[in-house]
Amino acid sequence: MTRRAEPIRSVKGTRDLLPGETALWQRVEDEARRVFVAYNFREIRTPVLEPTALFARSVGTDTDIVTKEMYTFQDRDNESLTLRPEATASVVRAYIEHGLYNEGGVHKLYYLGPMFRRERPQKGRYRQFYQIGAEVLGSDHPSIDAEFLEMLILFLGRVGLREFALLLNSVGCPKCRAEYVKTLRRALDRVKSSLCADCQRRAETNPLRVLDCKVEADQPVIEKLPHILEHLCPECRQHFDRVTGELAQRGVAYQITPRLVRGLDYYTRTTFEVTSNVLGAQNALLGGGRYDGLAEMLGGPPTPGFGVAIGQDRLMLAVEQAAQLKAGDRLTAYVAWMGDTALQPATRLVQELRRENISAEISYEPIKLKKSLGIANKLAARFAIIIGEGELATERYQVKDMTSGQQEEVEPARIASYLKDKLMSSV
Ligand code: AMP
Repeated sequence: MTRRAEPIRSVKGTRDLLPGETALWQRVEDEARRVFVAYNFREIRTPVLEPTALFARSVGTDTDIVTKEMYTFQDRDNESLTLRPEATASVVRAYIEHGLYNEGGVHKLYYLGPMFRRERPQKGRYRQFYQIGAEVLGSDHPSIDAEFLEMLILFLGRVGLREFALLLNSVGCPKCRAEYVKTLRRALDRVKSSLCADCQRRAETNPLRVLDCKVEADQPVIEKLPHILEHLCPECRQHFDRVTGELAQRGVAYQITPRLVRGLDYYTRTTFEVTSNVLGAQNALLGGGRYDGLAEMLGGPPTPGFGVAIGQDRLMLAVEQAAQLKAGDRLTAYVAWMGDTALQPATRLVQELRRENISAEISYEPIKLKKSLGIANKLAARFAIIIGEGELATERYQVKDMTSGQQEEVEPARIASYLKDKLMSSV
């Protein structure tokens, strides 16, 4: 007898999404696509694998992502490759590589897909996780920021979320931020000995990151550090005031959060996050902002940009809690046949229904009616269609509505349109 082999398990921090979950994931993705399209965004698909330099240059060499979290390896020809930890850099790379800027105007792009970061896994934090993101390239107009945030809030409402907060800040431009960083350094020099070891290091290498610190004991000290909003140059201040003014006009509620500097180096001016307290410790649902210098950092022409990355894994947790969006019926029709002569007409009916994009299932093994109806229930079929000797003789099949229990006789050729009408009238 051969010994059964040791089962192979998925990699730590990654997970399988089984059919029971993917139906709701698809609903959320469909909703995202609908909203993006309404705002004139179009899809872009970029590779999962990118040159390591792309992220080192854009995300920043002193960020947690680049120093600790990237899946980087030498390819066989010694090129250093990285599994993308985020997709904004890839979108901007593609924008430059294909000369999309030559078309002029504003480019609105969206993407969906897996990202990879070697973080400590916990609920809502994975090593392979999924983001739904969108980017606008080619305009630094404050109305773009406001319109974009309005779109995000609309999307969150569409997937049933109510309890969330839009946190807003400006991190200024390289000019005023450099001045602010000097001020912050001076303030940190006075207090850093009382901060955690990470913050003491960050105070030297990248003082803005201190504002991201989550260590409880550090919070009272960090709260008293100078705020970037008080150090914006007149142009950045005006930009921020126009964004907030327009958000108010559009009826989008926000909370100004001066400590929101975000973990990536490429941000300029507007930064934002949406948090939801239904999520627990990992409460950031999405984040993004303006990145007017990124295209140049990546060797392209100056191109202002604005974008978001929505953490889909966390979004799904919040959507499940809100319990408003349902996955919908799994199957429209289960075709139950009795007696050998019914198998062929039943197979033909299933084929016709599927051609009409009506989901249908059949068992090729002969089964009794009662068991067939049990299977229809288990498959969450909306209708069972019953074909036995009597139905073949009268040329009318029984169509049973599995929700109401009502049953009607319908001619085979009319069944597809009958089911479509029923489905339409029940939405
Ligand atoms: P970031 O690209 O860091 O701005 O992240 C954007 C969003 O992606 C966050 O708000 C999270 O919702 C989500 N996210 C980031 N890292 C992870 C992770 N390791 N696991 C799950 N979601 C994540």
